[in-house]
Amino acid sequence: MNYNVNDKGYYGEFGGAYIPEMLYPNVEELRQNYLKVMAEPDFKAEFDKLLKDYVGRPSPLYFAKRLSEKYNTKIYLKREDLNHTGAHKINNTIGQILMAKRLGKARIIAETGAGQHGVATATVCALMGLECIVYMGEIDIARQAPNVARMKMLGASVVPAKSGSRTLKDATNEAIRDWINNPVDTHYIIGSAIGPHPYPDMVTRFQAVISEEIKWQLKEQEGRENPDYVVACIGGGSNAAGTYYHYLHEEDVNIIAVEAAGHGVDSGESAATSILGKEGIIHGCKTLLMQTNDGQITEPYSISAGLDYPGVGPMHAHLCKSGRAEFMAMTDDQAMKAGLDLCKLEGIIPAIESSHALAIFEEKTFKPDDVVVVSLSGRGDKDLQNYIEYFKI
Ligand SMILES: *Cc1c(COP(=O)(O)O)cnc(C)c1O
Repeated sequence: MNYNVNDKGYYGEFGGAYIPEMLYPNVEELRQNYLKVMAEPDFKAEFDKLLKDYVGRPSPLYFAKRLSEKYNTKIYLKREDLNHTGAHKINNTIGQILMAKRLGKARIIAETGAGQHGVATATVCALMGLECIVYMGEIDIARQAPNVARMKMLGASVVPAKSGSRTLKDATNEAIRDWINNPVDTHYIIGSAIGPHPYPDMVTRFQAVISEEIKWQLKEQEGRENPDYVVACIGGGSNAAGTYYHYLHEEDVNIIAVEAAGHGVDSGESAATSILGKEGIIHGCKTLLMQTNDGQITEPYSISAGLDYPGVGPMHAHLCKSGRAEFMAMTDDQAMKAGLDLCKLEGIIPAIESSHALAIFEEKTFKPDDVVVVSLSGRGDKDLQNYIEYFKI
């Protein structure tokens, strides 16, 4: 079975490019060029150098001794939380800004929900001196004030999306409208392993540095490149795609994908797409999607803003349908407890997204000599208010 994208842009039955006619030239230009550009030695050199000197890579692969003792197995944390801007998202925005420059684009647009991808995009636009416009739902602008301030300080214009539910999907619609109107000079930086082909594959390849590093880091520490398990949380699925990438076809490596169950899978307030979703089209690709019987997108819910997305990337839909990955769903309560445990046991305050991946150890038992690598996708600074309110600290 092939778990990578095929030459038609599909992962099994998922993926493709379901876009309005007027967007076709933009997406087609990218499709024809992305692999060629990524293979150029000077592109690779510039990407690698920025990942090293600006992002701070390689991120450590840290053996979490006290956490491992608690669960009687060997747990390693891939420390994406230590990257510049505090999460894995910067790997992708660095890659895409270099792509935009190679394609001669001077203007960058992006959509953002919680603001994390907006900040990562505004950061690389400042780095390269490119104009940056971030579309954000009016409601999200109100509830994510610190990230809005960050984007503005970094020189971006934050444009409110005032239609519909005034959240992420409306911001995405605005960004697509902008791109249709500015096809020549503008690149659209999508923030997860979603969107029309070639975005899921391009984002995955930029994030694949995560598993590329895990391989040699684990070899150094355990004498083998392959762990028994790789584990990551899934919103759209970019940190997960990067963590799995070099292991997709390694049969001895088990893949665990962790979704947000919110208040519980059956509570009506959840983001567990693999369980609740049906095949549908969102943001230009066919994938699993939470929707009503007549195909309207359902509002997802999770305490963590980064997992609060009604779909999953097409690669993950395929990993789920084919049985290659085991999907688990963790509730708000399970994630918050696991997050606080990591603070006390290891002195690391994780993003609430990442805490979902850590929560599986209460539910699933591993063998004492199993090596389990967990993607610690981000740091918890941005979530402090949430932790304070939840635990009444
Ligand atoms: C955005 C975000 C996620 C979810 O996005 P993916 O594309 O699924 O990786 C997870 N963790 C953190 C820290 C994030 O900021």
